Amino acid sequence: MMLKSALLLVRCAKKHVWDQVRFSSQALSQLSSEKYNVTRKDFATLQSTDVNFFKSVLSDDRVLTDENDVLPFNIDWLKNCRGQSKMVLKPKTTREVSQILSYCNKRRLAICPQGGNTGVVGASVPVFDEIILNMGLMNKIISLDDISGALVCETGCILEVLDKHVQEHGLIMPLDLGAKGSCHIGGNINTNAGGQRLIRYGNLHGSLLGIEAVKADGTVIDCLRSLKKDNTGYHLKHLFVGSEGTLGIVTKLAIHCPVLPKAVTVGFFGLENFDNVLKLFKSAKSSLGEILSAYEMMDNESIRGTLRNMKLTSPIPEYPFYVLMETHGSDADHDTEKVNRFLSKEMDTGLILNGTVATEPGKIQAIWKIRESIPAACMMDGYVFCYDVSLPLANYYQLVPMLRERLGSNASVIGFGHIGDGNIHINVTISDFDKEVLGVLEPFIFEEVSKLQGSVSAEHGIGFRKPQYIHYSKDRSALGLMRDLKTLMDPNGILNPYKVLPDDV
Ligand SMILES: Cc1cc2nc3c(=O)[nH]c(=O)nc-3n(C[C@H](O)[C@H](O)[C@H](O)COP(=O)(O)OP(=O)(O)OC[C@H]3O[C@@H](n4cnc5c(N)ncnc54)[C@H](O)[C@@H]3O)c2cc1C
Repeated sequence: MMLKSALLLVRCAKKHVWDQVRFSSQALSQLSSEKYNVTRKDFATLQSTDVNFFKSVLSDDRVLTDENDVLPFNIDWLKNCRGQSKMVLKPKTTREVSQILSYCNKRRLAICPQGGNTGVVGASVPVFDEIILNMGLMNKIISLDDISGALVCETGCILEVLDKHVQEHGLIMPLDLGAKGSCHIGGNINTNAGGQRLIRYGNLHGSLLGIEAVKADGTVIDCLRSLKKDNTGYHLKHLFVGSEGTLGIVTKLAIHCPVLPKAVTVGFFGLENFDNVLKLFKSAKSSLGEILSAYEMMDNESIRGTLRNMKLTSPIPEYPFYVLMETHGSDADHDTEKVNRFLSKEMDTGLILNGTVATEPGKIQAIWKIRESIPAACMMDGYVFCYDVSLPLANYYQLVPMLRERLGSNASVIGFGHIGDGNIHINVTISDFDKEVLGVLEPFIFEEVSKLQGSVSAEHGIGFRKPQYIHYSKDRSALGLMRDLKTLMDPNGILNPYKVLPDDV
């Protein structure tokens, strides 16, 4: 087992492997409307007068209408969904967003808000000809208070860019995910993204301090406060967290950034079976306490495919299950002592069969790269059905063998995820999209999740792919209130139609 020392973790902005995957294939996916048999709602269609109006609000170069320019914005990261939008708008200011929405609302032109387009439930791309409102040019960092940790920025800032910026001031972003090189902080808020650090820093409802958003009719809602405590009536900012662009357009936000850990340790361990993954988690929580910042599980098939497709090397030999564990602390000596005690105990008990521990940034990044490359590696094998569910820990891995048995040798089924949060990702890969396989998978998976008292979406959201299954995790009374809120905030339903709420609610 290796043990090296370093004080600071520095994760650099870099081009991610999955960016290359995303743009390497020229093959066009089938239109979402045909693939999933959807009927267009009664919205207006884009006219030349509309295009002229948008060009009067934005400069010409921020109104894309050429088919080739618009195409990449119509396709999602997984290439599961393809829309038919004729136009992309790229606003730079809240005022421009407000003018666009006010006009679209009056004309009944539908809009699909888009951040970094890394979402995996089809929420970030249109279904028909919705206008794509891409937020990438609203990317200014407005202020950072390095005492309170409050960062104020525009919605289109890339997560990794923000992380680098706040690290220069002794802070980190409260969330971290494999898509950090492309996803926007506004997209993160709108999906209530979880990621690797949630076990330590909590979810975005806790970190978000304030928000500025534009309603469907163009009204700007100013809740952009940086206070930790503000109990003045309804906590409106929370409405936008996880709303997937259906209630308003987020334009600015204030978020709390924790202190940059002075000591970071990452361990990568091989385990005999899933029971031991759970036992080790219990032991890690009790031995490491507050410094435990990530506890990720990967099955053998996840790692084997990733190493093969991404041409990566594992620091340890092959095992049935793997755990990637990270600690964030303020005292390297103290943390190392704690981690070493935990490791030697669990190697003696046999829970950890083999492992490597890194405290040096390069080695830490190499270990995380294996874990973060899993989704892109799956895509290199064909068409991926991506499931993201919450399950009680005792039943966490149950669905994976069940699906393997159901699908036989026709598909590869892998299980990995943020086990510390009870969140498993199950990716099913086949050579090409097949409606029959879809029928074998859905609603079966969601029925099973419901029987086990889980949630059909842990962190990716409902988007376009799951509205018909939301009832497995939300009561009709709650869905009714969601519909009332949607009607109140977007009476014409122009914001991200066909997403989140099923029509029969
Ligand atoms: C390799 C990989 C790893 C991932 N890992 C994780 C993970 O660990 N945890 C996790 O939670 N997710 C993960 N994801 C999913 C995805 O990255 C997150 O959902 C992310 O938060 C999406 O951000 P985005 O900027 O790409 O948003 P998009 O995909 O562009 O949009 C997502 C939703 O937000 C809406 N939206 C975006 N910006 C705005 C705005 N300004 N105003 C209103 N609505 C808006 C869109 O309409 C859409 O509904 C991963 C994805 C990939 C490809």
